[in-house]
Amino acid sequence: MRLTVNGKTVEAGHGTKLSDFLKSRDMDPRMVAVELNNEIVKRGLFEDVALKDGDTLEIVMMVGGGSKGAKALVIVESPAKSRTLSKFLGSGYKITSSMGHIKDLPKKKMGIDVENGFNPEYVSITGRKKVITALKKDAKNSDPIYVAADPDREGEAISWHVAKAVQTKGKHVYRVSFNEITSSAVKEAFKHPRSINMSMVSAQQARRVMDRIVGYSLSPLLWKKVGKGLSAGRVQSVAVKIIVDREKEIDAFKPDEYWKIEAELRKSLEKGFKAELAKIDDKNPEIKDEKSVKGIVEDIKKKEFIVHDIRKQQKQRSPYAPFTTSTLQQEAFNKLRFSANKTMRIAQMLYEGLDLGEKGPVGLITYMRTDSVRISDTARKEAVDYIKARFGDKFLPSKPNVYKSKKGSQEAHEAIRPTYAGMDPDSITSYLTQDQHKLYGLIWRRFLASQMAKAVTATATIDIKAGRYLFRASDTEMLFKGFTALYEEESKDTKLPVLKKDERLTLVRLDQSQHFTKAPARFSDASLVKALEENGIGRPSTYAPIIETIIFRRYVRREAGYLYPTDLGKVVVELLVKHFPVIIDEEFTAAMEEELDKIEEDKADYVNTLKTFYDPFMKMMEKAKVSMRDVKKEVIHTDEICGKCERPMVIKWGRRGKFLSCSGFPKCDNAKSITTGAKCPQADCAGELVERHSRRGYFYGCTNYPKCTFTSNRLPSSEKKEEKAETSG
Ligand SMILES: [Zn+2]
Ligand SMILES: [Zn+2]
Repeated sequence: MRLTVNGKTVEAGHGTKLSDFLKSRDMDPRMVAVELNNEIVKRGLFEDVALKDGDTLEIVMMVGGGSKGAKALVIVESPAKSRTLSKFLGSGYKITSSMGHIKDLPKKKMGIDVENGFNPEYVSITGRKKVITALKKDAKNSDPIYVAADPDREGEAISWHVAKAVQTKGKHVYRVSFNEITSSAVKEAFKHPRSINMSMVSAQQARRVMDRIVGYSLSPLLWKKVGKGLSAGRVQSVAVKIIVDREKEIDAFKPDEYWKIEAELRKSLEKGFKAELAKIDDKNPEIKDEKSVKGIVEDIKKKEFIVHDIRKQQKQRSPYAPFTTSTLQQEAFNKLRFSANKTMRIAQMLYEGLDLGEKGPVGLITYMRTDSVRISDTARKEAVDYIKARFGDKFLPSKPNVYKSKKGSQEAHEAIRPTYAGMDPDSITSYLTQDQHKLYGLIWRRFLASQMAKAVTATATIDIKAGRYLFRASDTEMLFKGFTALYEEESKDTKLPVLKKDERLTLVRLDQSQHFTKAPARFSDASLVKALEENGIGRPSTYAPIIETIIFRRYVRREAGYLYPTDLGKVVVELLVKHFPVIIDEEFTAAMEEELDKIEEDKADYVNTLKTFYDPFMKMMEKAKVSMRDVKKEVIHTDEICGKCERPMVIKWGRRGKFLSCSGFPKCDNAKSITTGAKCPQADCAGELVERHSRRGYFYGCTNYPKCTFTSNRLPSSEKKEEKAETSG
């Protein structure tokens, strides 16, 4: 039979007693008040009431009251969150932090019992033992205990481990989750504590186990075949492949030459304006070389310029949806040049709460890991009030803007938005760092703009004929700013003179310019996150870690904001594509993500999902062990002579990519970096530049270091290569 419990549909066996139903949901009947079909049920009757199909239950937990006068304990995952939360919970609560995950798979072995239902063996994370002891001690003196980790799979898994660690007989441990750390959200959450959602925990565990199996099997294979210390991951390798594929497109790209012709025209004595050659004999110009452009220019000069057609059009532009994790990361890169990782780090601070002087710690934004664009009614109303007060009714749409989340997103979640719409970023500047202020401002403006009216522009397009040639000019005028009043987009307001059809214009000058078609752009953090999301690879919680991991593992290099595959990345992708075609396939990886979602929704089974993945993977593994080419043995000879023993040096692969090793290894252990071939630009230095790596990233240093301390982020000779690929998109 079906019941509605706190607004949600729940299945229960026919005739279930109310008391049994509460127990089945891990609720202590002594601690709840129950309304059945709008009537309060006296506690003494819980054992007598049998539930019927269609019943509506409203269950409210009694907050604060623990047994035997003990304080309630609230466990969150970070001290910042605990500070912000403490404002909203009374003195009956003690709040403490687990400092993130307390349990994980062991470091020194795979830690998965494949034969026994892929059962993971969890151990306490090194350095967390003291935390666990403290949590247990706090738990001993408290009742009930609430675990209030973040509202997603990772948070659910943390909650589960914490709950297991502190649970003792007779102790009540509940899960509470909220999307924002505000008074109303926190109070609402504590009114409806629940048990741990084991389907969510299973989904998190399935991802962890799958990644562990791949990493633990692939890495030793790569050590054997390519070089020591390498590692490979599941989703990360797909991301590297996407970047390698793009680099291949860029390498294969042959730029085509084409020319543009622009005329500066004038109406009598007015200021001149520019029009571009758009058609020759009603066809696209396609001018391929300098010789043809010269002929055309000479021909045009002889013609008369006459206004042929004027078209006016009104255009409406809708505001953007409020941010999801993916769009926030993209926009923060494009507008602020923040890496995905930096964006998430700062967003986390804004979410967990910053000290705003007398106000104390305030959680400024909703939870930052989400793929939903939904916003709560309360938030919408606050936005409307703000827009009305600051801009007036005209800037509100006739009916509220509602945005559609992409298929399969978590609709229970909300978009990333400010927790207080009225909290203008400029009113709190002094409490925020520059970066926090920039990111908060971006989130705040995007959210408010999403609830504003459309912008209206008028565009005029003017066609001008010069014999068989057609030139075109256009201008755009802003008629109503709408949402752009708050969320400015670059708009060029060009102004053309007032013209009439058949009017004659004077040619002031003709310019020709040479162009080349551009190769596709390299990925930036922004465009890679976009590509991952479009391909269904990764989820809000994984985009930023994926990018950091592939850079950390030296498969990819980030240079001036763009992602380049390293030689190491190319070799590993080539081997994986050949021997694990399915594992590194975008569609397969996307299908696996969907399977994980299904586990969370109770539509797929943990063991079955892992089995369908594990069996074919292991078959490929066995084959690859035999047939994968041994890159290690493919010694590349060089002309270099070892400085220690005078044997020739050879090129080998290692964790840092290619390096020069003495061919006498292991008798002689001389090894050095391969130079880039670029001369050190320092005067009086005969050294060459080599790629080096520090905690701050890649750079080029001189082979004569420490005598020469030259460093640079770019190779002096790399400009030529840069021209070939457009890196602005
Ligand atoms: Zn040697
Ligand atoms: Zn030098």
